[in-house]
Amino acid sequence: MSERLNKCPLCKSGLFLNHSEIKDFAVSGETFVICKCQSCDLLFTNPRPKQSEINPYYDFQEYYSHKDESKSFTGYIYNQVRKLNIKQKLKLINKLHNKGKLLDYGCGTAEFLQAAKEDGWKVKGLEPNDKARALSNIKLPNKIVGELEELKNSQKFDVITLFHVLEHIHKLRKTLKKLITILNTDGYIIIAVPNPESPDAKLYGQNWAGWDVPRHLYHFNEKSIQTLCKEFDLEIKEKKPMKFDSYYVSLLSEKYKNPNQGLIKNYLKAFINGMKSNLKAKKEINYSSNLFILQKK
Ligand SMILES: [Zn+2]
Repeated sequence: MSERLNKCPLCKSGLFLNHSEIKDFAVSGETFVICKCQSCDLLFTNPRPKQSEINPYYDFQEYYSHKDESKSFTGYIYNQVRKLNIKQKLKLINKLHNKGKLLDYGCGTAEFLQAAKEDGWKVKGLEPNDKARALSNIKLPNKIVGELEELKNSQKFDVITLFHVLEHIHKLRKTLKKLITILNTDGYIIIAVPNPESPDAKLYGQNWAGWDVPRHLYHFNEKSIQTLCKEFDLEIKEKKPMKFDSYYVSLLSEKYKNPNQGLIKNYLKAFINGMKSNLKAKKEINYSSNLFILQKK
């Protein structure tokens, strides 16, 4: 049984309308309804699979962020980009704060945490997926937990990162409250999320890979992130683009839109559309994915 929400999972408003119907191209082929909150603009899947029912929807070979190795060409590209991404993430947290305590929520197979540890950070990771957690626990023994409840409220962090994670979390408000409790007063929460108003989202429409239903439960635009801040006494310190994402999202979207067009055409079109998306996005800082740096007020 799926669960039907009767209020917005972010601002608790009861006013929301059906926004679109999107297919799960990656796993189930099922179609899901996305609703739009009339108060905060949050887009959310409704009804949605319960937390206890969501695991089968993650069970596909190409869910790279949970795998250490991938044999396909797309997997190879993904891994190369991931290496670059790790460098950028490290640069970002080092710019924000002296090397302190870092929590990476949704750490996957812990590549970023490992790099941060080697760089001098005290690290902790949270990964709900059993297989990914087992792999990360080998790399970082005793550093990875499966759920937030395992972290004591007295344990404080200087930087908490959620890279493409917030949109997957069922207990959105409860999770945010807990994260704020364990964040140091001068600490930062870094949230990276796909942008449903980006040029590539508009170009691909229902085939946009950033929808990724039902794994993505929410889609945040700038207004809904501002609402999130208001609800939880945070403020946006900075908004940054994630420029690689447009290429990867375009590549998947191209596959969903034209499943029979062949690999080379797929890559070419994805490259061109990814680049176009970044160029268009530059003016309004409206990239395929946005990264928000938040701090307590
Ligand atoms: Zn709302």
